[in-house]
Amino acid sequence: MQTSSERCLFCRIASGAINARKVYEDDATIAFEDINPQAPTHVVVIPRKHIASLDDMSESDSVIVGATLARAAAIARDLHLNSDGYRLVVNCGEAAGQTVFHIHFHLLGGRVFGWPPG
Ligand code: 5GP
Ligand code: ZN
Repeated sequence: MQTSSERCLFCRIASGAINARKVYEDDATIAFEDINPQAPTHVVVIPRKHIASLDDMSESDSVIVGATLARAAAIARDLHLNSDGYRLVVNCGEAAGQTVFHIHFHLLGGRVFGWPPG
């Protein structure tokens, strides 16, 4: 039987089984360029731990997900997105547009973003 990490696209990117243009990785977190960018900069930031969605996050996952969030902000600074501003997005569930069920932050920058989002 396949485990979730064998089935999950982002687990497979995290393990290196599937290639991605990585912009950052450490023991807990990995970030890579989105294959279908929605802005001049579009980086996906994930914890290595497989958590299916924000709705599946347990209390004990707070440290891991918090570290992923802090890493997204650090990457935004490294890419000099912080001076003009950037958007960080979590899609939770199908109606919100989540297509990959491994929790992730979209880091979007390099253009002006409208509000409310679509
Ligand atoms: P979601 O729709 O779940 O919020 O975000 C999933 C994101 O993963 C999408 O923006 C999509 O373009 C991206 N994506 C899907 N498959 C791949 C892939 O194989 N490689 C990379 N780098 N990004 C992917
Ligand atoms: Zn996964």
